[in-house]
Amino acid sequence: MSPSAGGDVSEALAAQGAAAPPRPGVYLFKDDQARVIYVGKAKNLRSRLGSYMRGGDGRQQIVFLLRKATQVECLVTRNEKEALILENNLIKQYKPRYNIRLKDDKSYVSVAMTKHAWPRVVVTRRIRKDGARYFGPFHSASSVRETLDVVRKVFPLRTCSDAVFRNRQRPCLEHQIGRCLAPCVLPVDREDYEGHLRQVALLLEGRNEELVAGMEREMQLASNEERFEEAAKLRDRLRAIRNTAQGQEVLQHDGGDQDVFGFYREGGFAEVQILIVRAGRLVANRSFGFRDWNLPEEELIGSVLTQFYGGGHPIPPQILLPVELADADAREEMLTERLERRVRIVAPQRGRKKRMVDLAGENARQALGARRGEDERQSETAEELRRRLRLRSAPRTIECVDISTFQGSSTVASVVAFDDGAPATARYRRYRIRTVEGTDDFASMAEVLGRRFRAGIEADDLPDLLVVDGGRGQLGVALAALADLGLDSPEIVGLAKSRARSDARSVAMERSEERVFLPGRVNPVVLPRSSGALFLLQRVRDEAHRFAITYHRSLRQKAARESPLDAVAGIGPERKKLLLRHFGSMAGLRRASIEEIAALAGIGKTLARTIVASIAED
Ligand code: SF4
Repeated sequence: MSPSAGGDVSEALAAQGAAAPPRPGVYLFKDDQARVIYVGKAKNLRSRLGSYMRGGDGRQQIVFLLRKATQVECLVTRNEKEALILENNLIKQYKPRYNIRLKDDKSYVSVAMTKHAWPRVVVTRRIRKDGARYFGPFHSASSVRETLDVVRKVFPLRTCSDAVFRNRQRPCLEHQIGRCLAPCVLPVDREDYEGHLRQVALLLEGRNEELVAGMEREMQLASNEERFEEAAKLRDRLRAIRNTAQGQEVLQHDGGDQDVFGFYREGGFAEVQILIVRAGRLVANRSFGFRDWNLPEEELIGSVLTQFYGGGHPIPPQILLPVELADADAREEMLTERLERRVRIVAPQRGRKKRMVDLAGENARQALGARRGEDERQSETAEELRRRLRLRSAPRTIECVDISTFQGSSTVASVVAFDDGAPATARYRRYRIRTVEGTDDFASMAEVLGRRFRAGIEADDLPDLLVVDGGRGQLGVALAALADLGLDSPEIVGLAKSRARSDARSVAMERSEERVFLPGRVNPVVLPRSSGALFLLQRVRDEAHRFAITYHRSLRQKAARESPLDAVAGIGPERKKLLLRHFGSMAGLRRASIEEIAALAGIGKTLARTIVASIAED
């Protein structure tokens, strides 16, 4: 790469940037291995890339990117909105190193008022386009359940499934205890039922003052008209509703729905905090932290927005940001289409909304502080590992391999990866053992590690520390696999499960400590029970075990679904199940005679003969 006048950009890269079309689209920076390392979008590809390459316009922040990139590829779209969608898809596809990626696997709890002649109210984690009316998201499943408990006690709406509703001949217990008007069979005043639905909607939207005021009026009227029983019921309902309304933090009093973004960066880390405000109340918050590659703030916030709402988060009618986005119009248009209601993206400069953004920023600052505290703890744990296990360096990336065999049949292995004490699931790997017959854990481990190390050499991706599940024997196999390839890293240790030993003077069994076997040392190291290092090693080992078992289970289930019986004419799922259940397995079925098979209900001699012939050939 010959540097240009800018000093950091190769001539080829600069030429590609200059040749980019002056149109909206997406650009992909690639490294010398042709790996996509950054995906961005622009209203005008040529001017965006030109400003990147020239520098001097405040965008020198991406110098690190230009040093790594050797080529840039452009994909033109018809407009900025399409570019936003494409950018999100490409980030998901390539997971580029320098793009931020939101790890938000939390699904939101919402409440649906179903589309039905007599709707019911249910908790859901999925928002579908099914005509139902959705409310939320809510803090947690438990807070929703509490609210729904109140709804059920206070409003006499049906709770049964549609199938039950259709088939009822008489009202169920819910009606007898006064919690349902029983529209399943009784003549119910529709206006009355809908009135309850309206009140439930107010409660779920957090519009409690409105709800309470309406109910107070109703109660007064009932009392004035000497309908005392009804007035008493309303009083009890009001009490229940007032209790649920307590404890909800009011952020603004005009009852708006907003997502408020806050941003904070410091010392190589950045944090975005999103306050989710519904009906003026803070109902949830989300925090995302990432390595700060010094990208411009609006680019970071834009990226979070794209992924946050692209990932299915409910879209509010107003989004407050700490910074103005040049593509706010395109984003508004896209979100408006999705919400089917006007969405506004605002970067408030003063007043109450600005204070809310500042509050989100303050939350981001605190979250970053907590995250860095966690980082420091991880560094301490890594340092403890280095010291106690006499490693060359403090391990930040740790992998663990686990071999799993089921009843001497197929053997599988898992390798799980942890970065800074947290599972890096994207780098988990599963292996089917190819070269080993029967059960031989040592040979299986040698095969897996050989495969893992070779792939690691190719991709320049080996962990700092490898943990094998087992003692001296397993450690020896792993070290041999490493030596076979002429490698001297990763460092390897064996973690042997605690051994049960009986106490001669007592029938009680006591557990010895976990032991860590190190290369070249006869005696294992025993880490203190309270050690963070031990806790991390155990976590990594248990995760590898869990992952291998899960893989095994899925293979077994697949094998159970795919059987030689599938190819036999006249055998459907029911007969397959019957045969396997009766004879225990395919092996059992193969041992059975034609007469034994024919004796089963619905099989008969002809089919039994076909079965025996088909599976014998297999
Ligand atoms: S009374 Fe009827 S409508 Fe009400 S919950 Fe029971 S079955 Fe459903």
